[in-house]
Amino acid sequence: MASLSQILGQIYTMAMLFFSVLLLELAILIHGAAHATAHRSITTDQFLKIVDKKAPSGRYSAAGNSLGFPAAECSVCLSPFEEGDEVRKLKCKHTFHKGCVDTWLQQDAATCPLCRRPVLPVDVVVKHRNHRLREHYDGGEEEIMIMLYALHGNFLRRFS
Ligand SMILES: [Zn+2]
Ligand SMILES: [Zn+2]
Repeated sequence: MASLSQILGQIYTMAMLFFSVLLLELAILIHGAAHATAHRSITTDQFLKIVDKKAPSGRYSAAGNSLGFPAAECSVCLSPFEEGDEVRKLKCKHTFHKGCVDTWLQQDAATCPLCRRPVLPVDVVVKHRNHRLREHYDGGEEEIMIMLYALHGNFLRRFS
């Protein structure tokens, strides 16, 4: 007859196997979800290229240049434009530092920081959001793999 500790050991093994399989399934599921959005996403590089097309950037000049920047300061960082600063002018004519507005546009809605008019087509915004979600999922998958390794480490120690 099997002793109580042997039975408990078997139950422990079964439970460990069960949870390992469950975690693996979860990892596969998340991986699948990430893949499903792959063809419907664009990278930040592609996103910024579209921004460049929709709202070209240029150098700021107080004397005025072909782009004709009307504002004296950037409404994102609240610093005055300096001669030669790289700036981006949106369709609504609002002007910001290129770095400031590019960071801003990568947030949720991609609208002008001042008047909230959309800068990019909705599908571009959605595709870039998918890309960011995917990055988030990839991070999560790594965490699950670490959890799995930890579980198996525990599992193996029992028999060593
Ligand atoms: Zn700025
Ligand atoms: Zn605006």
